[in-house]
Amino acid sequence: MNSIKENIKIIQEKIFKAEEKSQRKTGSVKLMAVSKFHPVTSIFEACESSQFLFGENRVQEACLKFPSVFEKFPETELHIIGSLQSNKVKNAVKIASCIQSVDRISLLEEIEKQCSKIDKTMKILFELHTAEDSKSGFESVQKIEEALMLFCEKKFIHINPCGFMTMAPFTQNKSEIHKSFEKLRLASEKLQKEFPDFSLNELSMGMSGDFEIAIEEGSTLVRVGTAIFGERNYQN
Ligand SMILES: *Cc1c(COP(=O)(O)O)cnc(C)c1O
Repeated sequence: MNSIKENIKIIQEKIFKAEEKSQRKTGSVKLMAVSKFHPVTSIFEACESSQFLFGENRVQEACLKFPSVFEKFPETELHIIGSLQSNKVKNAVKIASCIQSVDRISLLEEIEKQCSKIDKTMKILFELHTAEDSKSGFESVQKIEEALMLFCEKKFIHINPCGFMTMAPFTQNKSEIHKSFEKLRLASEKLQKEFPDFSLNELSMGMSGDFEIAIEEGSTLVRVGTAIFGERNYQN
């Protein structure tokens, strides 16, 4: 098995090739290392390869692991990428710089409430449900429009909406995966046109198995776990 350092280099090379293939600017796709279920020692190893952007699914786990990472590598940034219960928001906004998995207006209300208490501005992405077999995300573009209207009414002054996130279906069928990512790109283009006062250019899509397809479809941020850290051990 490769080391984490070697894996990061391999992924970066693949990202570079995928950018070239779709005639996108070098460096237009950011790599996020998804460290859920992996120990702090693995996160340190990634940091030593100058990988400073991480994603975690569970707030509790992130709160146990990341304080020591921030201490040792202050340039580290953490995003929450898993579905978030409202009672976890208080802790989430303390350690994360972005919540990618915003899937309902009541979650925005809670983020606003908790961020106003600590006077922090939180970046968020709207998660859109684009695949039959997953459950997460806003169920339609229209629901995201409704949320953005509330931003226009200045309801969420401690939240900075930066773009969109999705998960493709778990399938080997490449055209299904393309379709899912394309759906997010088209949604983002439509919403950016409708809401020009916001800069909604982040497109978080693509994981270990499908990030090259996601880059072809316009991804600006790929979330890679297994291909960097190896298989997750869910017994932990
Ligand atoms: C776990 C997870 C990833 C990373 O998945 P891999 O297949 O291990 O790369 C990406 N995004 C989300 C939302 C995840 O939950």
